[in-house]
Amino acid sequence: MSIKKYIRSRFFPHIWCPGCGHGTVLNGLLRALDGLGINKNSVVMVSGIGCSSRISGYVDFHTLHTLHGRALAFATGVKLSRPELKLIVPMGDGDALAIGGNHFIHAARRNIDITAIVMNNRVYGMTGGQYSPLSGEGTLSTTAPLGNIDQMFDVAALAQAAGASFVARTTSYHVKELSKVLMKAISHKGFSVVEVLSQCPTYFGRKNKQGDAVSMMEGYKSGTTPIGSKAKQENPDLIERGIFVERQSPEYCEEYAKIMDKAQKKKAKA
Ligand code: SF4
Repeated sequence: MSIKKYIRSRFFPHIWCPGCGHGTVLNGLLRALDGLGINKNSVVMVSGIGCSSRISGYVDFHTLHTLHGRALAFATGVKLSRPELKLIVPMGDGDALAIGGNHFIHAARRNIDITAIVMNNRVYGMTGGQYSPLSGEGTLSTTAPLGNIDQMFDVAALAQAAGASFVARTTSYHVKELSKVLMKAISHKGFSVVEVLSQCPTYFGRKNKQGDAVSMMEGYKSGTTPIGSKAKQENPDLIERGIFVERQSPEYCEEYAKIMDKAQKKKAKA
């Protein structure tokens, strides 16, 4: 297996901190694409702003590094103009669900064939450790030094409620599961959301006394469980991993093509 063909080695070394989970997500994503035998020229990666969004600089696909929170809007435009291409949108939790929240729910509602990866490290890492919509009540950050009072979103529940036809969650600890879930998400026809719990030892871990990157990953191991497990029944605080939704539903570009076809036939008759 060679994933080097997907890398822009001239942009290495990367800028992520030692122990950041985002490198593991990148690795899992490239292994998923390689496992599916996808030609790099058929992939478009669109990212917004944040540590997670730096991924688009490191991969040798067609890449767009766009505005904060707007990656899904740009990706929607690309997908509608070239529906045969694979659109992959890596986002951080702030990028996806704060400023980008509106784009997120509407991309899900339309069921457009894009793979959205939400790399959930519960903090704005690139800009200094401010709390995000996924930080959670009681957590500490540079902008909540006495404890965050905001409730967090459940990304998987939000994506399901908004209409995404594939929704999954995994972590940077579960590396094989990560690649397998991403393979399914990328193969799925429709809007796919994969939430990956990805540690930020620099800001979230240090501020919240979660130890180093290894300790944080051990936390993903002990704090999560497969969907519907007995362990979850015994301990409701465990976070479920796996595929929550995988269903067929009309895809936006295909429905749009039908409307264009109807319009052209109507015009030809006129
Ligand atoms: S600040 Fe956090 S998310 Fe950003 S590169 Fe460093 S560890 Fe990763």
